[in-house]
Amino acid sequence: MKKIGLTTLLCTTLTWAALAAAPLQAAEVVVYSARNEQLIKPLFDAYTKETGVKINFITDKEGPLMQRLKAEGKNTPADMLITVDAGNLWQAAQEGLLKPVNSGVLKKNIPAHLSDPKNQWFGLSVRARTLFYNTQKIKAADLDSYEDLADPKWKGRLCLRTSKKVYNQSLVATLIAEHGVEKAEQIVRGWVANLATAPFPDDTKMLEAVAAGQCDVGIANTYYYGRLMEKSPELPLAIFWANQKSNGVHVNVSGAGITQYAKHEKEAVKLLEWLSSDKAQNLFADVNMEFPANPQIKPDATVAAWGSFKSNNMNIAKAGELQIEAVKLMDRAGYK
Ligand code: FE
Repeated sequence: MKKIGLTTLLCTTLTWAALAAAPLQAAEVVVYSARNEQLIKPLFDAYTKETGVKINFITDKEGPLMQRLKAEGKNTPADMLITVDAGNLWQAAQEGLLKPVNSGVLKKNIPAHLSDPKNQWFGLSVRARTLFYNTQKIKAADLDSYEDLADPKWKGRLCLRTSKKVYNQSLVATLIAEHGVEKAEQIVRGWVANLATAPFPDDTKMLEAVAAGQCDVGIANTYYYGRLMEKSPELPLAIFWANQKSNGVHVNVSGAGITQYAKHEKEAVKLLEWLSSDKAQNLFADVNMEFPANPQIKPDATVAAWGSFKSNNMNIAKAGELQIEAVKLMDRAGYK
């Protein structure tokens, strides 16, 4: 809540003359963000510097932010919701918390498969969820795809993060979309049978286990690998782009939508368009070693050094649509 009070403060300190010259109502956007403060504040500062528009924001986990939007209803001060994972954005749209935005700028800047088909949210950065392996134990040539990790040859050699994380729910949702429930369940059962140890609470711990040789291979988002290697470049850990011979690497987004009851809708749409533009895309993606969602923009040098890859261009709204199905499937398959 701490930053919401800013407008009130400004109103009481500005003179009447200043108020007449610059209507405060128009020069503000209120954002609820599940993306960390350190990842979004530099962007908002740059936007304010460029346009003079103030951005008041709060950060929290997506659950509490969506609860809050629901509870506030028409009275919400929030104009924009930023979250990670399309599953969460889909959920927010499903609950009627977002409104469609018809913007030529957003359509031009953000590929269709990274946005809601009904234009209620737009991906702003891409996170790739792929395979990571211990270079002292196996070679890249040993690896192939998410599906291949279900093969009995990987018995006792696979590490995974918990199925409770939305990232894995989204990954399994895309497997369902591609293969159908039955085949997807076989794959997940295969993963469970191949686990070297119980699933990890986060991607970093999972990657550390691969690096320590507790398992040969695991699945994680690339920016966790980036952070870990920045800290410990000596680790025998490498990236492998999954499914290059088939549908491509599973990608997800960090993205945003305009709230159903936005009080500064026009200004919020302008901010969203700016976030998709060349001016902001590197700022948005690079701070977390993600890929810009706008294909015209190059990723930062560290990220680019991981090499180029084919990504799965299934619309990521599928991750939301099939999320409940995915959770049930992982439960049946004994994936904890
Ligand atoms: Fe993450």
